[in-house]
Amino acid sequence: DPIVTARALTKIYGAGNTRVRALDGVDVDLGRGELTAIMGPSGSGKSTLMHCLAGLDSPTSGTILLGGVQISGLSQRRLTELRRTRIGFVFQAYNLVPTLTAAENITLPLDIARAPVDRERFRTIVETLELSDRLHHRPAELSGGQQQRVACARALIAAPAVVFADEPTGNLDSTAAAEVLGFLRRSVEELGQSVVMVTHEATAAAYAHRVVFLADGRLEGELRDPDADAIL
Ligand code: ADP
Ligand code: ADP
Repeated sequence: DPIVTARALTKIYGAGNTRVRALDGVDVDLGRGELTAIMGPSGSGKSTLMHCLAGLDSPTSGTILLGGVQISGLSQRRLTELRRTRIGFVFQAYNLVPTLTAAENITLPLDIARAPVDRERFRTIVETLELSDRLHHRPAELSGGQQQRVACARALIAAPAVVFADEPTGNLDSTAAAEVLGFLRRSVEELGQSVVMVTHEATAAAYAHRVVFLADGRLEGELRDPDADAIL
């Protein structure tokens, strides 16, 4: 069964003359243990869809099931709790804590939850993301690609139901971007982790197991195991 299921998802911003229908009846199932990319032009509704699926924003209507939990209609307090315990986030700007080492940044979600570190999982993630010799460095001592790999490790460490990545390669050159996405895909496969990534770059989406396309707030098709040429 899918890890995320959305049905008839609609999101309307504003009212009257300034009404914007950012999502217009989206039905989508996102696969368990897969890296899914959401693609589409600027303004097509990618951020809105991701924010709704991740419980950061509420749809105007429609239903969302995340890891078997109905999240549409939950209170803000329950949504905050759900994001903290069941969802990992990767942002364009890395958002690491500058005073903590890479290792401390990676285990931060567990520290906040007062949960023990699964040493085996930590080692698998760090080795797959090739961070073993960077664990004692602080963010300022790491390249952009290394910082984003630390951010990916942090998002994966607590084995969340889903990791959401918002333009994760937006600040990286093409070499660093390829490394981050290659390592992220391997982590997904090694750990059976479900990851949803929003991107407008075909080269980034080509790392996904599946790409779904948004246009004007509607799903317009999908590709499985695409290469960049097929996406363009
Ligand atoms: P994308 O991520 O694909 O660029 P967005 O989800 O950001 O698309 O935006 C979809 C549409 O919704 C756009 O027309 C955008 O201008 C509009 N929109 C997004 N956020 C807001 C908001 N907070 N208030 C009003 N309109 C918004
Ligand atoms: P942008 O859309 O400018 O790239 P971000 O990617 O940093 O901004 O944030 C996207 C959304 O995620 C924002 O609505 C923000 O409030 C929210 N957000 C940022 N950090 C966290 C976090 N640690 N936990 C939950 N939500 C967050």
